[in-house]
Formats: sequence, C-alpha cells, structure tokens
Amino acid sequence: MTTVDAPHPAALLPKVSAFLNGPAKQLMIGGQWVDAAAGETFEVRDPSTDRVLCSVARGRAEDVDRAVAAARKAFDDGPWPSMNPHERSRLLFQFSELIEEHADEFAQLESLDNGKPVGVARVADVALTVEHFRYYAGWADKLEGETIPVAPPYAPGARYLNYTLKEPVGVVGQIIPWNFPLLMAAWKLGAALCTGCCVILKPAEQTPLSALMLAELAKQAGFPDGVLNVITGFGDAGAAIAAHNKVDKVAFTGSTEVGHEIVKASAGNLKKVSIELGGKSPNVVFDDANPEEAAVGAFNAIFFNHGQVCSAGSRLFVQGKLYDEVVERVADMAKNIKLGPGLDPSTDMGPLVSREQQERVNGFLGKGEQAGAKPHFGSEVPGGELSEGYFVRPTVFTGVDANMAIVREEIFGPVVAAQPFDDIDDIARQANDTDYGLAAGIWTKDLSKAHRLAAAIRAGTVWINCYNMFDAASPFGGYKMSGYGREMGKHALENYLQTKSVWVQM
Ligand code: NAP
Ligand code: MG
Repeated sequence: MTTVDAPHPAALLPKVSAFLNGPAKQLMIGGQWVDAAAGETFEVRDPSTDRVLCSVARGRAEDVDRAVAAARKAFDDGPWPSMNPHERSRLLFQFSELIEEHADEFAQLESLDNGKPVGVARVADVALTVEHFRYYAGWADKLEGETIPVAPPYAPGARYLNYTLKEPVGVVGQIIPWNFPLLMAAWKLGAALCTGCCVILKPAEQTPLSALMLAELAKQAGFPDGVLNVITGFGDAGAAIAAHNKVDKVAFTGSTEVGHEIVKASAGNLKKVSIELGGKSPNVVFDDANPEEAAVGAFNAIFFNHGQVCSAGSRLFVQGKLYDEVVERVADMAKNIKLGPGLDPSTDMGPLVSREQQERVNGFLGKGEQAGAKPHFGSEVPGGELSEGYFVRPTVFTGVDANMAIVREEIFGPVVAAQPFDDIDDIARQANDTDYGLAAGIWTKDLSKAHRLAAAIRAGTVWINCYNMFDAASPFGGYKMSGYGREMGKHALENYLQTKSVWVQM
C-alpha cells in the first residue's frame, strides 16, 4: 500500500484529482477492474518533482495469463471478431467521442505522468489520439478481400471461383513506451481493434495512467468484455506477453535491446511480430534553404517532446555557408527554452520522464564533452522546489565526428549533434551512416534535389521542409534497426490481418 506524498498543487480537473487520489489503480482484465494476483502495487511519480502521484497494480506473468485467457475468450467465442462490422465501427467512433469529451483530463494526466507541457499534450497527443481512433473506426467495415482469376494447368476445362477473406489475426499483445503514452496506445489499438483482434496492452512502468483511463472509456463505449485488457507492470509482464503461446501477435515500441528480446521470445509459437525501435535521424539543411525556417525546423525536430521522440532529428547536417548561422540560431533558441513542470502553462519544456532517463542523457552530455565535442548548453535546469525534478539542459554539440557516441547512439533526450557538410554527392552516405532508419528531414528550395535525396535515404519517413508531421492516414515505421512493420494508414491493418484463400469449384 502506497500513500500519495501530496496532491498536486496545480488546479487539477476534478476527475483527474479523483483518479489520482483514489485507491491504487487496478488491472483491466475481462472487463473488470481487478488487483494483481499477488496483490502488489508500484508507485508512479511526477517527473517535475519526484513526488508520488498514485500507485498502480503490478501485474506479473500470472496476471498476463488471466488477461490472455480473457482476450482468448473474447476472440474465440466472440462476438468481437464476428460482430457486424458497422457495429464495430460505431463502437470505435463512440470511443473516439468519449476520448474527445475527456480531452482536457487526458492532457493533464499525460502531462503529470510524462512531464510534457499540458498544452502540447492537448493539441498533439490527445488530438491525434482522437483522430486516430476515428480513422480506424472508418476502416472497420472496409476490410475487403478480392476475387482472383485462377486456372490451374492440371485442371483443364474446370472452373473455379477463388476469393480471399481478411480475418483478424487473433489475440494481440501490445507493449508500449513512455514518450507518448496515450498516443502509442492509440497507434497500437486503432488498427488492432478495427480488424476484430482482442488485445492485452502493457503500458510503460513510468507512464501507466492514460492507458487506464482509456480502458475505463472503452468499457463505457460498450466494447465487449475481454476485447481490451490492460496490464500495468514492469518488463517481466511484457516478457510474459511476448513469450505467451496463446498470443498470436505482439506489437512493440521501445528500445533496441528489448526489441531483440521480443523477437527471440516470439519464436516459441512463431507469433507475428511488428517492432518500432527508435532512431538517430538525420536532418539535412542545404545552403539554399531559408536559414530562419530551417533553424526553427531543426530546433523543433530535436527539442519537441524534450527529444524523447523516436524520430527526433538528432543529427543535424548543415551545408557550408549556412552552418554557423543555423547552429547559432538553434543554440540561441535552446537558451530561451523555459524549463518547468508540464502543468505550468508558461513551460516550454518539461522534465524527462524518469531519473533513469535524466542520468542516461546527462551521461551522454559527459561522453560528448570527453570525446572533445563542444557543448552549447541551453537554459539552466530550474532550482527551488523543482530541483528534485528530472530536468536536463537542452544542448547543441558542435565539433563532433561520425564515430562519437553522441552521433551514433540514440540519446532520447534534448541533445543534437551538429555537423557541417559541403559535398552534396556525399550527404546521402553520411545521412545513411547509422544503424537506424526511421526518419529524416531535408530543407531546401530545390525540390528536385529534395526528391533525389528523399529517395536515397534509407528511412521509413522523409520530411521535406517540415519535420515530425504525423497523420493517422500516413504510414510510419522503420528500415534497418529501427524495426519492421508499419503503424498508421491502411498499412498498419496488415499487421493485424490474416489472408485466407477460398476455392470453390463451379
Ligand atoms: P524499454 O525497456 O524498451 O521499454 C519499452 C516497453 O517494453 C515498456 O513497456 C517496458 O516495460 C517493456 N519491456 C521492458 N523489458 C521487456 C522485456 N524483456 N520484454 C517485453 N517487454 C519489456 O525502454 P526504456 O527502458 O523505457 O527506454 C530505454 C531506451 O529505449 C530509451 O533511452 C530510448 O533510447 C529507447 N526508447 C525508444 C522508444 C521509441 O519510441 N522507439 C521509446 C522509449 C524508449 P517497463 O516500462 O516496465 O520497462
Ligand atoms: Mg527498460
């Protein structure tokens, strides 16, 4: 049993404060809120102060077993996968409406749990989540098969009708990270639910709260019991999902290290896997770009969500004559960032999500300096009552070379490594000189140059004269060690569908 240190002083919405100040949050299994089998809980902290926000059930393998059984029942006995697709679509629309009705509460909860500014949570995380469920609600009754002209050579004269059925893959485990807790849940759930799959969702230990509020609304929307189960807990719960023989598919977003574990664990029953593992994305500014626009773009590319973005533009390449100006502008903007708690409306950048991430990112700042790179530190971390928060100084490194850890490894924090380049012919090679391949940015007025480089970069998304643009309709996912499978768009549906071929002799 955990006691909450202090209710958050800021003006919390009544529902948020009731949510936080109530008893320990439970697991959602088979449509019921239940304690973990072992009765364990863990504390969730406010990253801006390190104070305890509330406590949450710690689910383990036994709880995963219970959730898988509930999801199996909901899938195998129905009615979810066999439900009239218009009805499934209607439920998903209703779900999106309920999320929108509670948008301000979600934004506060997300800001408190993750640290991001509440205004950003409202217009980005929550708004995109609503659109995402709406988009996939629209797909539920459009999952069409095809008819295929067939004529086997060993059956001359015979006639056959061959058609395909699109069927849900079954029970799906979805393991998500802490950087966009609500939105990552939406990215995973939208496509899975609209196809008729039943889900066990495992949010990150640092940020379990919005997934629980989501599960409550799914119940209100009228989803049948067992369609959406939520197991809060640690990596052992995720590992139990990934290894479970009654789970047909696992979808994961997170670290490369755990991504490898997921793929290994999936081998037991050869479940389907899709994984998204972050990146070290190049953001390339050509010398014909508007320096001000490119600098603002480069600034947002790395500092949005405090750099805790898998597609963050963490390697900035600027061509010769624009290099000094663009880097100076980005560093100046970093100095003016106002660090503070996410709930303070004047905050530009909140704390990182956890002490562990704060230490990890500060470790990279040290490694960069040791290797001889020059840091241009942004705003100071706040003192006073925020001195216990997990704040990190936004930082631009110059004087870097391609072998430094700050250039090669995903930092997942507000740190960018800037490098000049001269050789247009070589920039594709430099941009591709990474194990990752998630995203890239290109800034230039010369669109034919932009399209040529877009084609040459080995990454799942390329943004030209923009960065970090997302839409439920547009696919997102990795090349190389950024993973495989696509989220969003019609492309994500394939993760959750089987194709059955049916033959009929005419
Ligand atoms: P992580 O360990 O990969 O966590 C992602 C999710 O996987 C969480 O729900 C986590 O649960 C779960 N998990 C942990 N171990 C597992 C296992 N053996 N089997 C199945 N699931 C497991 O990521 P992290 O430790 O929070 O962050 C470390 C680094 O990963 C970051 O610094 C960043 O570089 C990268 N990262 C990338 C993304 C991305 O969007 N691609 C997102 C987050 C982090 P717990 O929360 O309980 O550990
Ligand atoms: Mg971890």
